[in-house]
Amino acid sequence: MKFLRLTNYFERLDATTKRLEMFEILSGLFKESNKEDIDKIIYLSQGQLLPPFLGLEIGMSEKLLIRSISDAAKTPTKKVEEIFKRNGDLGKTAEELITWKGQGLTVEKVYEEIRDVALTTGAGSVERKIGYLSSLLKGVSSKEAKYIARFVIGRLRLGIGDPTVLEALALAQGDRTLRPELERAYNLCSDLGLVAKTLLEKGVTGVRKFHVRVGYPIRMALCERLPSSEEIIEKIGKAAVEAKYDGFRVQIHKNKNNIDMFSRNLERTTHMFPEIREAVRNFIKADTAIIEGEALAYNEATGELYSFQITMQRKRKHGIEALAREYPLKFFAFDLLFSDGIDYTEKPYIERRKKLESLIKKDTIIEPSSLFITDDPKAIYKYFEDAVERGLEGVVAKRLDAPYSAGARNFNWIKLKRSYRSELADTIDICIVGYFKGRGLRARFGIGAILGAVYDPKTDTFKTVTKVGSGFSEVELEKLRKILDKIAISHKHARVDSLMNPDVWVEPHYVITVMADEITRSPGHTAGKDKEGIGYALRFPRAVGFLREDKKPEDANTVKEIIEMFGHQKKAKARPTG
Ligand code: ATP
Repeated sequence: MKFLRLTNYFERLDATTKRLEMFEILSGLFKESNKEDIDKIIYLSQGQLLPPFLGLEIGMSEKLLIRSISDAAKTPTKKVEEIFKRNGDLGKTAEELITWKGQGLTVEKVYEEIRDVALTTGAGSVERKIGYLSSLLKGVSSKEAKYIARFVIGRLRLGIGDPTVLEALALAQGDRTLRPELERAYNLCSDLGLVAKTLLEKGVTGVRKFHVRVGYPIRMALCERLPSSEEIIEKIGKAAVEAKYDGFRVQIHKNKNNIDMFSRNLERTTHMFPEIREAVRNFIKADTAIIEGEALAYNEATGELYSFQITMQRKRKHGIEALAREYPLKFFAFDLLFSDGIDYTEKPYIERRKKLESLIKKDTIIEPSSLFITDDPKAIYKYFEDAVERGLEGVVAKRLDAPYSAGARNFNWIKLKRSYRSELADTIDICIVGYFKGRGLRARFGIGAILGAVYDPKTDTFKTVTKVGSGFSEVELEKLRKILDKIAISHKHARVDSLMNPDVWVEPHYVITVMADEITRSPGHTAGKDKEGIGYALRFPRAVGFLREDKKPEDANTVKEIIEMFGHQKKAKARPTG
């Protein structure tokens, strides 16, 4: 496919505000793609060069892009900056300055050229990166330049999530029932490009052959929630109850001496945990293994576990070694997905656990999560209270005979957190879909409140549930506005369902955690809207922490969860538990 053709699709995707139309455009694009470039087309549409777990960053800043445009268009950087200042979009800036026809480059060619930019690193790489990009820009038309410019600085803003791609792929094949098969393969390899390529090359039979492979992260299993231990036992019977550690989830892939780690969001996090890498190399008694657990900072002297905020400091590029000395980590292993040629994901929890324990050498920084097995709700409460006392988040109960549910949130794992037993369940993760400018004091920050939405996997849309203005410091508000302006779009995104009209719409991209006093029914929001037009809303919401970089938009809480929490909250009111 010609790259110009792809940009025509991008333009249409950019312009649509209708979800169905978006699916049509996208499936039209996939229908037209061939097996040579479908993977690249998918990556590019999602604003990336490769799946995030491969950790390939383009490494282009606005400044470098400005210099590349200036070089290509033979225009002083000052002039480029002026135009950028005026229109606020380096894509449009490139479009305005690049006025020639272009050489009709293919998607493959453009992809390779951008990949060269990304792969150029090390000493003197800045100039070479600029050189590569400017020579690419010299060979494309203005419209192509617009999308290349946006792409290289991570501002494509199409907001196409993984479920959208899966659905559109199935649609493109003219068979929506393919979706579960595609999803299964995706859950096992976390690479949509690879799934699509396999589909076009080998058909559904090829897709069915996907299996767990060391080095390809498996999409992580997640917990459902219930408000009481009685309900947990009622639901899954005798269960393994584990401490719920509040740290950083890590999926470790061991291939002999090669160790890789991935976050909950399937980003490569290997560099963050050098001591865990060493420990896995030395103390996991298997040549190949995929192990999951929670990494947590702790006090070596007292054994006390530190808070999430302290562990999260590891999320940086430099100074890890010093941090590792100040805040050493423990790794609490809680699942085994693969070991020495055997796929454990289909095996019952209890068997996985047994094998996991047998692989871990004793008295190292790796230890199995603490656990006990019971069918007594009272014993769970006691364990729960102890866990909370020790500074843990609560407990996770696991069904003894359940397989590992890659990429799913279901009742095989059920979390019980302290807050469920008071007024409102838990904190809620919402996706930001726009913001209001704010009046009075707030006006000077240009942002007064964000519009937050929860996710509806059935329709693959984001439905609004709250406006959040409190909980942010002044510094955070300013930072937030700047960050959001970078993903601003001129109209409501096609995957957003909203009755409210914020001053600025943004691409659904960032997740934020909020606390609220209560969930109420409300006609102002679309989350859970019934026939009468009444949805659900958060009462007195306030932000806790800043953006959740470890979550994708689709990791926000779902509409179904909000409705369930509303139900739990009613029950909790009726029955003050102690
Ligand atoms: P939360 O914000 O409550 O962590 P979440 O949406 O990130 O929610 P959940 O599915 O609700 O994820 O909870 C599972 C998370 O709890 C896992 O991602 C993992 O990081 C953490 N966790 C801590 N201890 C355990 C454990 N023993 N077993 C499973 N998950 C655990």
